[in-house]
Amino acid sequence: MTARVIDGRAEAALLRAQIAERVAVLQARPGLAVVLVGDDPASAVYVRNKDRAAKAAGIAVETLRLPANTSQAALLELIGRLNADPAIDAILVQLPLPAHIERRAVIEAINPAKDVDGFHPANLGRLVDGMPTLVPCTPLGVMKLLATAGMPVAGTRALVIGRSPIVGKPMAALLTNADATVTLAHSRTRDLPEECRRAQIVIAAAGRAEMVRGDWIGRGATVIDVGINRLEDGRLVGDVAFSECLSHAGAITPVPGGVGPMTIACLLENTVLAATHRRGRE
Ligand code: NAD
Repeated sequence: MTARVIDGRAEAALLRAQIAERVAVLQARPGLAVVLVGDDPASAVYVRNKDRAAKAAGIAVETLRLPANTSQAALLELIGRLNADPAIDAILVQLPLPAHIERRAVIEAINPAKDVDGFHPANLGRLVDGMPTLVPCTPLGVMKLLATAGMPVAGTRALVIGRSPIVGKPMAALLTNADATVTLAHSRTRDLPEECRRAQIVIAAAGRAEMVRGDWIGRGATVIDVGINRLEDGRLVGDVAFSECLSHAGAITPVPGGVGPMTIACLLENTVLAATHRRGRE
């Protein structure tokens, strides 16, 4: 058996085209502010890709690049201004932040209605409560890819590897809300291979290159690889040993070309959602 490879690029292109159509009929273009502090090379690439994708969808995106020595107070002041700016519907602060800036203070300063990453505690709380809200883009993209794979989520055993507040925890909440039976694994999980074998859906988000091996995957399981890891030879790989898992899984996402493009498309979707909510034109 060879797994079906889920084409995240194609799915993201479809979603982006739909978003561009929705934007075209809005009276005013949605406004997205992307804030990048410092010069982390990976963050710079992510921000450039988000900027480009937003422009292509007709979103009025403003990317604000601040030096690495920007004080927390100055960043909070900028967020205050963006919160008050009627032309800005959505605010994204690219993570990670420099060590002298406290991530929680920054996220909590963003108006939850403009929190397009869905990281504000009010939005995460609403998500856990099963209420409509701005949902973190990567887990939202994963749910869309599961739908693409034709994988019914309700009633299945799902394993999420990684418990970060931006990927693993919201992912587990979304799967729980969709009626999966969810196990949330992490660095202290005792027997990860066995947890994997029991799962019909495996979501890998640990940031460990090719950690999930082929013989960890139950026959026909759906495997979604969130990980992005740069090897010493420069290659980009996920958390899943892709070629090994191909002969075990029923469907699998590649890296690159899987979850990454969907994350950006979901950011655009969240921006339009925030704009239509705020302007009362849903
Ligand atoms: P993180 O470092 O904040 O969290 C990693 C989690 O993995 C932790 O909860 C940790 O307990 C768990 N973990 C670490 N080693 C483990 C092990 N050996 N076994 C089991 N669990 C283990 O990372 P994050 O921000 O959640 O990101 C995870 C990965 O996803 C990274 O590779 C990141 O680059 C990638 N990512 C991709 C996208 C995308 O759009 N594709 C978006 C966000 C993050």
